[in-house]
Amino acid sequence: MVPFAARSLLGLVVPPRCAACGEGCASDAALCAGCAAELALARPVLLGDQAGVEVALAAGEYAGCIRELAHALKFGRRLRLAEVAATAMLHAAHEASVELAGAVVPVPADPVRWRSRGFDPAEELALAVARRSGLDFLPCLRRRAGRRQVGRDRRARLARPPRVALRSEPPARVVLVDDVLTTGATIAASAAALRAGGSLEVVALTLARSAQWPHPRGLAGAIDAA
Ligand SMILES: [Zn+2]
Repeated sequence: MVPFAARSLLGLVVPPRCAACGEGCASDAALCAGCAAELALARPVLLGDQAGVEVALAAGEYAGCIRELAHALKFGRRLRLAEVAATAMLHAAHEASVELAGAVVPVPADPVRWRSRGFDPAEELALAVARRSGLDFLPCLRRRAGRRQVGRDRRARLARPPRVALRSEPPARVVLVDDVLTTGATIAASAAALRAGGSLEVVALTLARSAQWPHPRGLAGAIDAA
């Protein structure tokens, strides 16, 4: 325990900052009052039957406080943020009457990105969603390394869909968690691997939906763009 006087002093030296917008906030809160209010008012984005999932759900659009939160989660103080984001995601599921069951599975990270960051936002979110929902956390997917890309131009590399494989047997019902629904290619590849392993129902639950989803050219376009 930090003595009260020392805590006050720390508070003076390093005033608490909102994890999303960076403004000052109450010492025990992750978000400032403005961002907390904005997050509470976010409208869930519900998209059915795309990319091989029964339902894709985001806590809100990739804008404002949610965009800041997603960005900070990728690069910043992740643990408190993951809890805040998971609360918003579970609230969205409740609001949209989407039943969450089975196990929480993170969308697998690109190994190169994982190594450069040292942590994986999707996994942090999935852990927080599991903690808060009481469902099991089951990281049963992995990204397979791409083939050697030497000599291929950037466009050809970008056209390659992510390769997702099973690490262990998936549950019948899956809550597939990612931070941002972008093109849907990774969700689609993950859902395909889960189905191949015997999963019967896959619900994609994310913090934000970016403007790229759903892709105007459908899933084929999404995979091309990944
Ligand atoms: Zn804020």
